[in-house]
Amino acid sequence: TDFGFQEVPVDEKASRVADVFHSVAARYDVMNDLMSMGIHRIWKRMTIERAGVRPGQHVLDIAGGTGDLTLKFSRLVGPRGKVVLADINASMLKVGRDKLMDSGVGGNVEYVQANAESLPFPDNSFDCITIAFGLRNVTDKDAALRSMARVLKPGGRLLVLEFSKPNNPLLSKAYDEYSFRLLPKMGELVAGDGESYRYLAESIRMHPDQETLKAMMETAGLERVEFTNLTGGIVALHRGIKL
Ligand code: SAM
Repeated sequence: TDFGFQEVPVDEKASRVADVFHSVAARYDVMNDLMSMGIHRIWKRMTIERAGVRPGQHVLDIAGGTGDLTLKFSRLVGPRGKVVLADINASMLKVGRDKLMDSGVGGNVEYVQANAESLPFPDNSFDCITIAFGLRNVTDKDAALRSMARVLKPGGRLLVLEFSKPNNPLLSKAYDEYSFRLLPKMGELVAGDGESYRYLAESIRMHPDQETLKAMMETAGLERVEFTNLTGGIVALHRGIKL
């Protein structure tokens, strides 16, 4: 009941980002609910719907963290399917694994510590790959997208759920206030770690907007790339197919 995939050593640049998640791992789920006022659950539900995963399929949830998507996929693929929860960060993986075990997830989930930039899987392995709120943390996003395209099966789809550019200037301003003032304060109060949440806000601002990410996915070899704005473009869900 094992893909036989191997762990790979984590490169140094990426491990700096990983430090942030070591320090937030234990409080990650609580902070997620708090910071997004629960809305991340709706964004994730949309992602599951658009993934169209069926029983028996193989799914990779890269940068899967505490495993929200993996949990849902594990039920959808059933006992003949497989879901790989992969993350660069051992602390996040451990919190995810514990959570999924407690939720009664069966033997169809595998846990792999891996860098999205150099996925340790053979070509054409997965029917579906998701990366939710993970791509912005990756140092070399183009390499990550290429790596994901490589391990997708022909006909397989990649879904990228990520913060993006609000399409209304007023919303954009309110959102900046929220993420650069309120969010680090909440991080300080709830997780005792304002610095990590300041980093998160910074990484959100730096992330490519909708059209730029779409073009990056196309360059990586994905086709029929399209995106849907969620919550006024605060978040966007991109999907591309490997043909
Ligand atoms: N997907 C989960 C979710 O939506 O709740 C977790 C998202 S969390 C904000 C970002 C995750 O990306 C962290 O668990 C972090 O360790 C992981 N990550 C950061 N850089 C990565 C990389 N280069 N390769 C794989 N995972 C990475």
